[in-house]
Amino acid sequence: MMFTRYLFVITFAIIFSGSLFGLAEAATIVDFTSHDIHLEFDVPAQEATIIDQGEAAVQAGWNLFYLNANAKISMLKIGDKLVEYRVASSSDTTQFPMEVKADLPPIETDGESLLVFFESDVSGKALFVIEFKAQFADPVENTRFSREKVGNEVNGTILEKGAYLSPSAFYYPMGDETLSHFCLTADIPVAWHSVADGNLVSSDVVGDRRVETWENTYKNDGCMFMAAPYVVRSVDQDGIEVACYFFEADTALMDGYLEATAGYLSMYSEKIGPYPFERFTVAENFFPTGYGMPAWTLLGQQVLRLPFIKATSLGHEVLHNWWGNSVYVDYERGNWCEATTVYGADYQYKLNESEDAAKAYRKNILKEYDSYVNEGNDFPIREFTSRSSAGSRTIGYNKAMMVCHMIEQEIGSGPFRAAGRLVFEKYKGQQISWEEWIAAFEETSGQDLSWVIPQWIDRTGAPSLKIEFIGSTISEDHLHKKIRLALSQEGPDLYHLKIPIHFEGEDGVMDTPVVLDSERTEFEFEVIGISSSVELDPDYHLFRRLYSEEIEPIVSAVLGIEQKRFVTYDTNKPFNAAFQSFSENLAEDSTVVEESIVLDSEVKDFAPVLLNPPDLPDNLAAMLTTTDSSIIINDTEYLRAGHTFVFAGRNWNGFDKYLVVLSENSESLPRLGQLIPHYGKYSYLVFKGARNVGKGQWAVTESPLEIGLIPIRGGH
Ligand SMILES: [Zn+2]
Repeated sequence: MMFTRYLFVITFAIIFSGSLFGLAEAATIVDFTSHDIHLEFDVPAQEATIIDQGEAAVQAGWNLFYLNANAKISMLKIGDKLVEYRVASSSDTTQFPMEVKADLPPIETDGESLLVFFESDVSGKALFVIEFKAQFADPVENTRFSREKVGNEVNGTILEKGAYLSPSAFYYPMGDETLSHFCLTADIPVAWHSVADGNLVSSDVVGDRRVETWENTYKNDGCMFMAAPYVVRSVDQDGIEVACYFFEADTALMDGYLEATAGYLSMYSEKIGPYPFERFTVAENFFPTGYGMPAWTLLGQQVLRLPFIKATSLGHEVLHNWWGNSVYVDYERGNWCEATTVYGADYQYKLNESEDAAKAYRKNILKEYDSYVNEGNDFPIREFTSRSSAGSRTIGYNKAMMVCHMIEQEIGSGPFRAAGRLVFEKYKGQQISWEEWIAAFEETSGQDLSWVIPQWIDRTGAPSLKIEFIGSTISEDHLHKKIRLALSQEGPDLYHLKIPIHFEGEDGVMDTPVVLDSERTEFEFEVIGISSSVELDPDYHLFRRLYSEEIEPIVSAVLGIEQKRFVTYDTNKPFNAAFQSFSENLAEDSTVVEESIVLDSEVKDFAPVLLNPPDLPDNLAAMLTTTDSSIIINDTEYLRAGHTFVFAGRNWNGFDKYLVVLSENSESLPRLGQLIPHYGKYSYLVFKGARNVGKGQWAVTESPLEIGLIPIRGGH
């Protein structure tokens, strides 16, 4: 995940359009081109004294900029003159100066900030200096970092455990700019170390204080800061300093992280181009985060301790230094950087594991699209800015990743990789979007890819495919067979699709792609020997709608249903209390545990989550062998005692999708409610306490995209 300022950009656009279309030049929003921020912390008071100086563009007349909501300004200088200023809460227009108030449209801001108004007698670039104090005391206890929802995030906090300031805390003045240059000096207790965007320029101990300066050599849309009583360890990797800033309790994890990070840095430097910074820091946080910034990542303690993070998310965050943190996203034209980062990291690691793992990953994306995206929440990739729900993640990360995959399938891996190098070389320090990427793919492949943007970036939805058998003939020598098939796509919009076709028979297999760009086209294939079946896209290379027969019941299909109801068959009180916390954690919302009587209602528009039903639904029971003391799933026997089982199912009692939870371990239920969303792609889960000991998918045996070809004997 990346920090983005798009919410602010929207806010500014509203005000700005007011000054364009309202009465002339009511007030202009300052454009800050550079910052040199000096932070001095008073930890017990949870306060920072901040001096920022740099360059800004101002206009003659009234100007305004944004600052932290509780900032106490002691000085503001524009050019070499002290200027008078007025402040007003962004959420209270009655406080705005009379002179500009009438000409400003209503201001809507997410997150309260302070508007600072001042008058200038000149227009143009000017040096500025501002000095202020502010308290940063966002509570951190109730934050959780969710895979699906972004919310409840901490903007700024100063505690004994450490200090964290994100641009959303407005800890430096912000205006209308999209990119500016950032340099930051932190004056912190000597026992602390700091980390901010870019390179560490200097670090000095002065008495009982440590003073450190950070500079980002590229312009950026913000600057993040963190400092805490860290243990620091670093290694050199080809002249790049790889560092871990961990808490004392987690120093045993440092070597593993240093080795993995160094590996990613050299891998991506070789693939794309030299790593664009002098160092990379993995920093630990005392509340949940999973952010990637220029030259560092900030991982919450729980996340950092998860064993699989080094093999997945860490590489993703490192790769963001190429995609997103040095080649920037032009948010007005759509965020492409999650697509290229997921494709080059998360997906690539699956591919390194095996073809089958990569295939399962692609199919999982199509299943998530089925689970989480519907007509009501679908939107074009172009409109993706950052993930705010499972649905937006499915589109902006995963559908968009599949677009990269389809382009690589179309043009080949050589030109695909060359385009990555070209984009990095050409656009470092610039904001780009899909147009620049497509132009690069066209340049390196020499192919016309003009169909990509209209159908995949600017359009919602996905194509549905169909196959029909028309007929077949056998050659005189009986060695060849001609097969006629009709391929069609449904839906209002036509797609240009390169469809893989797979023939199978006793004489082997044959794979051949065809291009379908009409509603229905007949194709003739010549196959050697006898083929007994043909299937469209069996390996899920296309972003398309799955048939329900292709989808096994999985956990995420149930989680994707807006309304879930939690139903208990258990009569044990403590057990139901634990199930109550389980349900709140799973739904990330307040919930009510109900009794099984609600299932008899006529309305079946919700997904039931059942605790300890006395009998399993038939279609689940058919896949399991159960006794009083154990359950056998796919030939593995699990004891019931101390275990919790989660089963996803379909079509029961009028409900389309449901979950069954069988548990003989109530203490683990609340934690399992948090863990289960991480296992969304599975049909069944087995936990011993809160530790996952079994997981898998029910088998799917049929697909309407596979048809049998009746072998014809004789040559007539
Ligand atoms: Zn990301």
